[in-house]
Amino acid sequence: MTTDTLPHKPETHAHRVHKIPVAVLGATGSVGQRFVQLLEHHPWFRLHEVVASDRSAGRSYADAADWRLDTLLPDLAGELTVKALGDSLESRLLFSGLDSSVAGEAEDLYADRGCVVVSNSRNHRMGADVPLLIPEINSDHTAAIEQQQKRRGGRGYIVTNPNCSTVGLAMAIAPIDQKWGLAKVQVTTMQAISGAGYAGVASYAILDNVIPYISGEEEKIETEPQKILGRWENGRFIDAPFRTSAQTNRVATIDGHLMTISFSLRRAEGSSAPGVEEIRAAIESFEGEPQRLGLPSAPLHPLHYVSDSDRPQPRLDRDREHGMAVSIGRLRPCPILDFRMVALVHNTIRGAAGAALLNAELLEAKGLL
Ligand code: NAP
Repeated sequence: MTTDTLPHKPETHAHRVHKIPVAVLGATGSVGQRFVQLLEHHPWFRLHEVVASDRSAGRSYADAADWRLDTLLPDLAGELTVKALGDSLESRLLFSGLDSSVAGEAEDLYADRGCVVVSNSRNHRMGADVPLLIPEINSDHTAAIEQQQKRRGGRGYIVTNPNCSTVGLAMAIAPIDQKWGLAKVQVTTMQAISGAGYAGVASYAILDNVIPYISGEEEKIETEPQKILGRWENGRFIDAPFRTSAQTNRVATIDGHLMTISFSLRRAEGSSAPGVEEIRAAIESFEGEPQRLGLPSAPLHPLHYVSDSDRPQPRLDRDREHGMAVSIGRLRPCPILDFRMVALVHNTIRGAAGAALLNAELLEAKGLL
């Protein structure tokens, strides 16, 4: 990705003179590096601190991070000294790309100290007072923050973004669920190797191969969409009523999770089923709070319908709207459920760091930072 494809639109969003200083927890990892990249030209936020394990602490970021992205490591980031997890930080807004073995405790620690933690990790996603946000779908779930602050006894709190495949799935089905109500969803994913972190899958294991198992992934995809598409009501989250069956596969693409989705609709008595064209129109006109607020990382259109019969494809479609839009194609009737389609999400941008940035922009726009 070149710098001119980064998801910020400075021409439509005044750069602030005083940007908000932020820290990245897990800054040396795959998601952490993407945060550092996306923050370089961010109009509202400024990278101020980087945090990683004791292996990296005390070293310059340039030395500690094995930089793997196809833009140059930003000079200012490279000069920062990596802090150790648990160190006191000057920034109040923290982005977390921490390994899940440490994320749960560390994110709680910083939130209890009064920080706002915007996390990618799975640990707190299903928390009873933790918003699992996709701002186009459930920006109103930020109402849970007040309850969480009370529990912690301070100003700090955690918000999370979903699993990288869940983001693509939930966004693809959101306009359909909102308009007609989903009953059943069946999804099969083909997930890129960047989703496993840099050291995640050995080249000898994945080249010339497909691995039909990703630890813990199916459970996340089968539960997170219901929370996202559900409601915050009377102080608790109420899940959307549809059921999901997921099968996940690791394939030899670098970035971009592709998935095939079949779904059936809840049929209200006497109502007629929509046709393919109506569903396609709902997908193409879908938008939410980030578009209305004009948030810097928001795609103009969160969902793009791609008409060609062999699309979307990871290499050709993952960078649509700077990696922040989900591409959908091949919508057609299904002989078992009602309809089927293909969706694609950029897993480390819309599925991780870009999603967290958009969440933080929403919090700032709502006066919650
Ligand atoms: P990764 O490349 O393995 O990076 C993990 C980061 O955590 C590194 O900065 C590492 O620091 C740090 N870390 C590991 N052990 C630590 C410890 N004991 N104390 C302090 N820091 C420690 O992983 P990743 O792929 O970026 O994923 C990060 C998180 O985001 C995970 O929870 C993952 O599930 C989630 N996520 C990933 C994706 C994706 O597409 N990759 C998408 C959505 C969500 P050192 O370099 O110092 O070891």
